[in-house]
Amino acid sequence: MEEIGHYIDGTRVAGTSGRFADVLNPATGEVQAKVALATTDEVNDAVARAETAQREWAKVNPQRRARVIMKLGQLINDNMDKLAEAVSREHGKTLPDARGDVQRGLEVVEFCMGAPHMLKGEFTDSGGPGIDLYSMRQPLGVVAGITPFNFPAMIPLWKLAGAIVCGNAMILKPSERVPTTALMLAELCSEAGVPAGILQVVNGDKEAVDALLDNETIQAVAFVGSTPIAHYIYSRATANGKRAQCFGGAKNHLVIMPDADLDKAADALVGAGYGAAGERCMAISVAVPVGEETADRLVEKLVPRIEKLKVGPYTAGEDVDYGPVITGQARDRILGLIDSGVEQGADLLIDGRDFSLQGYEDGYFIGPSFFDRVTPEMDIYKEEVFGPVLSQVRAGSYEEALNLVMDNPYGNGTAIFTADGDTARDYAHRVNVGMVGVNFPIPVPLSYHTFGGWKKSGFGDLNQYGPDAFRFYTKTKTVTARWFSGIKDGGEFNFKAMD
Ligand code: NAD
Repeated sequence: MEEIGHYIDGTRVAGTSGRFADVLNPATGEVQAKVALATTDEVNDAVARAETAQREWAKVNPQRRARVIMKLGQLINDNMDKLAEAVSREHGKTLPDARGDVQRGLEVVEFCMGAPHMLKGEFTDSGGPGIDLYSMRQPLGVVAGITPFNFPAMIPLWKLAGAIVCGNAMILKPSERVPTTALMLAELCSEAGVPAGILQVVNGDKEAVDALLDNETIQAVAFVGSTPIAHYIYSRATANGKRAQCFGGAKNHLVIMPDADLDKAADALVGAGYGAAGERCMAISVAVPVGEETADRLVEKLVPRIEKLKVGPYTAGEDVDYGPVITGQARDRILGLIDSGVEQGADLLIDGRDFSLQGYEDGYFIGPSFFDRVTPEMDIYKEEVFGPVLSQVRAGSYEEALNLVMDNPYGNGTAIFTADGDTARDYAHRVNVGMVGVNFPIPVPLSYHTFGGWKKSGFGDLNQYGPDAFRFYTKTKTVTARWFSGIKDGGEFNFKAMD
């Protein structure tokens, strides 16, 4: 059985705790490796080594650091297929989707190549008589990245690229469900020229996370995961005086107006609802058609599309639409939520509960499920399902649809499908959600914008990637400088005898 350890000072090392977690093959349910779970001492040791390395890395000028990141971008491109395979092997998503996972991380690496521009400070000439002001952005020191299972390449890259290019060292604690990709990325960082100790990958669970949150050297914590854990990490990190950005779960709605192109809306809903088995924080889990007629027509368009979806392991080829969910526990939780939807009175138009795949009976596959007539009191609406389940909530009017989205405690992403620019503009302007799509179902902003949800989908005040990453991973120092009259005004240049 393969034992996966940590990456410390530029090399893979075995864990010493004697504690391990199973790394599963979600398509078969088999344990394919064991990942070491770090102790507090192992975490503290990794941080202390990073602290020493960071002092030198901070002195490297931004352009040289950017060149290392440029090389990292090239290496990720060269290793795209290997990385995607590692993502699929542990997560279970299809290979094209896994390539997208790597690609959306790579784009953030590409943005970080512009670090010298992002890091240059501000200057005020003559803020007072003979007084100039300038500000500089300096690295924080050692920071922590704690990431979820559902994007094994993208989210670690979102966290580490900005941290490193700004001159920090990062301790990355990836999800214990998918540890391999982060270790591969760490090796590529070393090959690109990131010095030993600047990216330490420590695998682990709550013990490792708590050690990071309590370690006094750690200056900032960048987290992505579920809302309860995001809130816990935000509270403990900030109580310990650290900077924190903690992104949580989601419940993303897509509003369909009566004038929308319903074929396009149905295609969008199927891709955004069931892609990656619904295990995306930007997945659309709620369709909100406006008007009974729109809802009925949408059902007619959706049902045949959903019934056609192909579910299978990533090894079955590129015509598979989505794979298994991550664990047996996740499968059972999702099946329980579907049961609750039926019990609480929603119409289950497509039932994926009894799905079984020959040869993969022990895998964590769930067929696509589609509920109509879901109401906001039902658990299937209130909970983040994080599975291949789409719920339709019928709204009587545009205002009712908008209020439904506004009243939901999550605020990660949302979209509206309409042919009317005025409605789209009103929706984008008024809705209290961080990322909005107009005729666009999964509005993950490009790397030079920024990503962050509102309400219970995000704690902290700076988003991840884009210009905000440079603000998060640096602190600003402002210098006010005055020089008294100098040699040009009163200096004497002639050779004088001593009096
Ligand atoms: P999770 O919260 O279970 O785990 C995330 C990380 O926290 C992991 O590294 C895990 O080891 C650690 N962790 C788990 N329990 C902990 C505890 N009690 N104390 C300390 N650390 C703990 O999330 P997950 O299941 O890996 O990921 C799925 C969730 O992430 C979903 O809710 C999804 O919406 C969310 N997500 C959000 C975004 C976003 O940008 N908003 C992006 C991707 C995923």
